[in-house]
Amino acid sequence: MALEPGLYVAATPIGNLKDVTFRVIEALKEADRIYCEDTRQTAKLCAAYAVRTPRAAYNEHNAERVQPDIIEALRGGARICLVSDAGTPLISDPGFRLVEAARAAGICVFPLPGPNAAIAALSAAGLYSERFYFAGFAPAKAEARLTLFRSLARIDATLVFYESPARLAASLGAMREVFGDRRAVVAREITKIHETFDDGTLSALAEIYKSGAKGEIVVLVEPAAAEERAGDAEIDRFIANALETLSVKDAAAAAADAFDIPKRAAYERALALKASF
Ligand code: SAM
Repeated sequence: MALEPGLYVAATPIGNLKDVTFRVIEALKEADRIYCEDTRQTAKLCAAYAVRTPRAAYNEHNAERVQPDIIEALRGGARICLVSDAGTPLISDPGFRLVEAARAAGICVFPLPGPNAAIAALSAAGLYSERFYFAGFAPAKAEARLTLFRSLARIDATLVFYESPARLAASLGAMREVFGDRRAVVAREITKIHETFDDGTLSALAEIYKSGAKGEIVVLVEPAAAEERAGDAEIDRFIANALETLSVKDAAAAAADAFDIPKRAAYERALALKASF
């Protein structure tokens, strides 16, 4: 069947080249052009499935420059596929601006669903899956990372993060500090030869990975317990830590800021904690 004009957002394998849909291969073959995050990476998929469509790069470095050309081609009736190096474009990958601009220009945008590391990890981790919160990559800087984790600490959903091997140990430690010793899963190299799912408490996982990790990684953390969602345990932990270096007043101000709670409530909690030391 002939491909309609428009932008096709095509999911590609996250490791195993067989994890690609018939629809994606058909679209890649019939499209006028494939925009790839890295043309060399997409060349492997194209070689495996005899896709000979011309390819060009669309990535964080050239997106602003090439986007007008892509939109113009789409306006002219082109059939264009967008792929990233692995998984679903736009999910911690480039593409959002292009899809936004295409829709704003009245161009049809078709999703071609398929692999995604977060969903694959969630589907096999054995953690609560009714509700989940995809947080993508946490910031590299320690303070910004803690701030993000604090903002997620009371969510009633499994938390899903992408993580780099170099930062895994530090991230697990920071999660332990903010979330308490929750159950978590480190999913590595999904669909590849060395696929592993390690399940344990955050402190046990931090111990396993203290000297580093290899491969591509998704970290999943079980939802906050009911009493934590009420907020007290996490706020108390924060204040207790702060009281090690700050006065009651300053620790309370920091907690009020970090958790967006009234200063007075934070102050009373800090006073009570100080008295219990
Ligand atoms: N767009 C992709 C998707 O749909 O999953 C994600 C792209 S993001 C730049 C790459 C990150 O996804 C990796 O650093 C890792 O955290 C995760 N990832 C990708 N492939 C993976 C795999 N096979 N196993 C575990 N994690 C993976």
